[in-house]
Amino acid sequence: MTLSQKPALPGDKIAIIEEFETGENTFDDGQSIRSLVVGTPEFDKTSRIARISGMRRPAVAKSGDVVTGSVAALMNNMFAINILYINGKPTHAGLECICQAKGAKKRILVRVGDIVTAKILSLLNGVIHATISEPELGVLFTQCIKCGAKVIAMSNNIKCIDCGYIEERKLSTRFGNSDFIKFNSN
Ligand SMILES: [Zn+2]
Repeated sequence: MTLSQKPALPGDKIAIIEEFETGENTFDDGQSIRSLVVGTPEFDKTSRIARISGMRRPAVAKSGDVVTGSVAALMNNMFAINILYINGKPTHAGLECICQAKGAKKRILVRVGDIVTAKILSLLNGVIHATISEPELGVLFTQCIKCGAKVIAMSNNIKCIDCGYIEERKLSTRFGNSDFIKFNSN
């Protein structure tokens, strides 16, 4: 197995247990060593320990802050947001936050690439935990997954104005009336 230096997300496989033992921010699932956090895998070949170096300590995001960004990854029970704005101010710190998405197997809350707004709940071991379960939080901007056209809100769904495709989302009450479309051209 090739040892990756790419950033790992929670649940990512970083090594196999025949080759390494679990270090900081990792767990083993009986076969593989997986990451518990967002961070960079590090491998000590002498002690054969795999660990994850947590993300840069986020000095600029704190509990209660409202962040806006794009959905970077979807996992079974959570998703990661690449933070672009903190309390309305642009940030280039490369911060990510993780939202729990309980019940998301049945319900589509967000898709990768959606622009969402979330509230920071806590910072634990360098991981920023956030939520979108308040009316003003959730998806601000998205597009039709089938054809890429503009969508309109229909209660808890979105509907494509072009092809008519309907899909679920956890929409923000501010969906459709903000200027977040500009993010899309970045
Ligand atoms: Zn469409």
